[in-house]
Amino acid sequence: MDIILQQGGEWRADCALVLLPQGGAVRDAAPALWAYSPWIALSPALRDCSGRKEELSLLYGHPDLFLPRVLVAGLGRPEDLTARTVRFALAGAAAACRARGFSSLALPVETLPWAALGIPLEEGIRESVCAVLRGLYRLEAYRSAPEEDRAPDMASLALCFPGPVPDAARAAAEEGLAEARGVFLAQDLVNGPANLVTPSVLAGEARRLAERHGFSCEILGPEEIRVQGMGAFWAVARGAKEEPRFIVLEHCPPGREAEQPLVFVGKGITFDSGGISLKPAAGMERMKTDMAGAAAVLGLFAILGLLPYAGRLPRVAGLIPATENMPDGGATRPGDIVTALSGKTVEILNTDAEGRLILCDALAYAQKRWKPRLLADIATLTGACLIALGREVGGLFTDHPGLRDLFLKSAAAVGDLLWPLPLVKEYEDSLKSATADMTNTGPREGGAITAALFLRRHLDPGTPWVHLDVAGPARADKASPLHPVAGASGLGARLFYAVVRSFATGDY
Ligand code: MN
Ligand code: ZN
Repeated sequence: MDIILQQGGEWRADCALVLLPQGGAVRDAAPALWAYSPWIALSPALRDCSGRKEELSLLYGHPDLFLPRVLVAGLGRPEDLTARTVRFALAGAAAACRARGFSSLALPVETLPWAALGIPLEEGIRESVCAVLRGLYRLEAYRSAPEEDRAPDMASLALCFPGPVPDAARAAAEEGLAEARGVFLAQDLVNGPANLVTPSVLAGEARRLAERHGFSCEILGPEEIRVQGMGAFWAVARGAKEEPRFIVLEHCPPGREAEQPLVFVGKGITFDSGGISLKPAAGMERMKTDMAGAAAVLGLFAILGLLPYAGRLPRVAGLIPATENMPDGGATRPGDIVTALSGKTVEILNTDAEGRLILCDALAYAQKRWKPRLLADIATLTGACLIALGREVGGLFTDHPGLRDLFLKSAAAVGDLLWPLPLVKEYEDSLKSATADMTNTGPREGGAITAALFLRRHLDPGTPWVHLDVAGPARADKASPLHPVAGASGLGARLFYAVVRSFATGDY
């Protein structure tokens, strides 16, 4: 879909969108549109526009007009307005326009209520473009023929300015488009089935991004993973027939080779059967989404690659340990002891606690190779985190108050929900093993915390580390306007980009 910027007098599209607060008037919500399309005042449907949340009303003018229709989307009560309401309204309205067969949508910037939320116009344009596009996401790769009622794709979104188009608007719109594409890539990968989204396919995706956008990319196979000494990662991979991959992607703008990178690590379990500690059958198909962390990292790189000014961003590295977790004759047995890349030994009591095994080696790899300015990991790690925080909120663990604030601020800016959880020193004992340095699992209670403590044991003290447990919010069992296909929420890619941006602008 093309993003077009239209100045005053040039507005045209199949339909224009107005966001209407409850109790407000269309005339006030879009004054320039009202002046430009006087027919709106005469439209009989106008009196049915109440602005109630999720209400959509369609007004019709003469078909020969430059703007022959206006869709009025309700925002609900002004005192309840949040950025999420605005995103949902934009995404829902875009989907409604496509469902009606409109091929172009005009969005007068005057109707966007970002200022009321304290959000500057540029940022609002970025958010708006991203929300409209996200509302149009669909997944069709796995059907032999289009669905019967498939609406055609929309051709364009026009951002309409009352006067001349400000220069900054173009960059903001491009940024929003790049972010949506990054989210789409993450959603496509998470929604894809495990037989088709394998570790090699994730590696291929990384290579494709590298070739297209000039990143460097290294892919390690099973031999190299073992030779490197990633014994914990290998313990998970050895039960699978599908080969593991360790993916290293790097965005290093010229002149920044000596800079310490920001490193993002994503859990890439392309299917989690639990291994020998096999999961129950019910709902096991959802375990294809256990690579949502990996998808978020690839989504981040897609965003970086699509930005015209990526050269001004800091050095960024992405690490993805990717494997299936499967039971076969070669699989790790409960009770096996392995040596992780950190040099520490781990007694694997439960092979279903595999995420921390692949992550601890990736974290140790990052420390050995670089001295990261930031080392952040994202993982669908524990059911305990889902029980603690529910389906929409991710757990945030870190020892660094500054990084905690940065991640909370970045999450809020992109609409992801995170909440800080504690690294409780007293729970360290629950990782005690009778035979090795540690076990890979503690009791069910506080399981998200012991998983985080386990990861921290493989880090040098003082590492600027952030751990995100997104077992709940990375998966979306129900569709919503922002992720219209149930399955992947697309969480993480935009959040990480917002973090990178903060480092670039000096906000952190
Ligand atoms: Mn597991
Ligand atoms: Zn898992």
